[in-house]
Amino acid sequence: MSSEHPANEPVLGYAPGSPEREELQTELDNQMNSIIEIPCIINGQEIFTGNTVTQVVPHNHGHILANVHLAGKAEMEAACIAAVDAQEEWINIGLEARCAIFEKCADMLSGEWRMKINAATMLNQSKTCFQAEIDSACELIDFWRFNSHYARGFHDYLQPLVSPKGVENTTEIRPLEGFILAITPFNFSSIAANLPSAPALVGCTAVWKPSRNSYYSNYLLMQLMMEAGLPAGVINFVPGSGAEITDIALSNPDFAGVHFTGSTSVFQGLWQRIAEELPNLKGYPRIVGETGGKDFIVAHPNCDEKGLIVALIRGAFEYQGQKCSAASRSYIPTSVWNSISEELCSEISKIKIGDAKDFSNFMTAVIDQRAFNKIKGYIERARDNPNCEIIIGGNCDDSKGWFIEPTIILSSDPKSETMVEEIFGPVLTIYIYDDDKFQNILKLCDKSSPYALTGSIFANNEEDIQTAFNALRFTAGNFYINDKPTGAAVAQQPFGGARASGTNDKAGGPLNLLRWISPRSVKRAIEIPQKWTYSFMD
Ligand code: NAD
Repeated sequence: MSSEHPANEPVLGYAPGSPEREELQTELDNQMNSIIEIPCIINGQEIFTGNTVTQVVPHNHGHILANVHLAGKAEMEAACIAAVDAQEEWINIGLEARCAIFEKCADMLSGEWRMKINAATMLNQSKTCFQAEIDSACELIDFWRFNSHYARGFHDYLQPLVSPKGVENTTEIRPLEGFILAITPFNFSSIAANLPSAPALVGCTAVWKPSRNSYYSNYLLMQLMMEAGLPAGVINFVPGSGAEITDIALSNPDFAGVHFTGSTSVFQGLWQRIAEELPNLKGYPRIVGETGGKDFIVAHPNCDEKGLIVALIRGAFEYQGQKCSAASRSYIPTSVWNSISEELCSEISKIKIGDAKDFSNFMTAVIDQRAFNKIKGYIERARDNPNCEIIIGGNCDDSKGWFIEPTIILSSDPKSETMVEEIFGPVLTIYIYDDDKFQNILKLCDKSSPYALTGSIFANNEEDIQTAFNALRFTAGNFYINDKPTGAAVAQQPFGGARASGTNDKAGGPLNLLRWISPRSVKRAIEIPQKWTYSFMD
């Protein structure tokens, strides 16, 4: 692989008085002042079906951003056919031309499209400017640039090592034959655009089913890709029902794989549906899914206490805890807890929650009424649980936006509901352990939850760090030492977890791209044999 590689996109700071802050605020106003119509985009054509739903602003849910025209059966079938029909030409233009299109997408997003996409993500998914910047600008730019770099690299790396005299061996890096169904989550615009475009980079074509909670930002990203020169039919944008698109995709024998990010239960259902339809499909589909997490922070008695407080607050509450990697359980020794609890609560009480447009807010709203009700349910059950105590937060208000306070629950039962289940909201549950039980707590952390996505160890002694590193080998696909368990960067910490957290195909790295290829080995005889008998027969 070439040693020249792209650099991570620099993160803009949006400090008061900065040009980016002014530009972003103007763009937010513009987007708040219009309601757009979002079509399906099939074979490059906009299709307004008339069957619409609205997109609202989660922190101001009376405000409509867009009417979205949902795909029905006919549009979904057309999208699958368009993707299949587009593949031959897409393969024929070659890797370099495909990389050039996605690198142009990255340049456009880094430049003139940046504020448009960041503002859309702030309004559609209720992110602060910083959370939008690291997601919809920087991470997506990095995905497009580094994926192009990785794809070029493995074209060389996968060539056969040996071509004996008279023979020329090569490997053709073919894509999978057929189309990929990309089913994407609401919480990262970068993931939404990456799931159809990573397979497309290596020559697949895709049907993209965006989340019903991010149609607005995702549609703008689809427009960006088309403006960058993505040919018609390579990615087809179909807002609509996930279950319906899955049924339709699976009834098409050319279904070649699914690229999914979302909850564990939906992914398990998808896998089962795919298995049922196997006899009707032309090939064995690739199934790549990154799913839920119950991400942890374990503190050792000798840890950096200030660092721990920062990691708990940022890890648990940034983007309202709606990151698959969000810290949602923590194991803290008694001595450390006695020393930090007051400061932790005092810092959390300073957190401002509100409109994404007010840059002094650290948190905004959760994504929709369903999420609000679900998270509130967890908080209410914890309130009624004699083993749990809500030490800060716990209030919820959905009158204007779906707001939930940053909440900490202390639990004396390490297996209580909020210690083991994914909540996907701003709720952190802490279990206090005896200082001399560090080894036991590592075992408990490993065995308590079915997930294995991210986790952190806070300790200052190298031996303790190694003990945790070994004991938690399979507890997290992304492991952090003295840092929060969120904020993985492309090409720095390739992202993904195992167990119930997914297939661990490490988005943004070469491993993910390799899942979308099906190489052809080619042997060419230079010296063509002219005699059918062998020397042993003489
Ligand atoms: P979700 O599972 O509700 O939805 C994800 C996608 O699946 C959406 O497009 C949705 O419409 C679709 N879907 C829903 N039901 C379906 C069905 N029956 N058949 C086919 N598709 C269906 O998840 P979400 O709320 O959008 O995102 C949050 C979840 O995603 C959390 O569990 C989080 O941990 C996970 N996540 C994981 C990662 C990761 O990298 N591991 C990253 C981001 C989010």
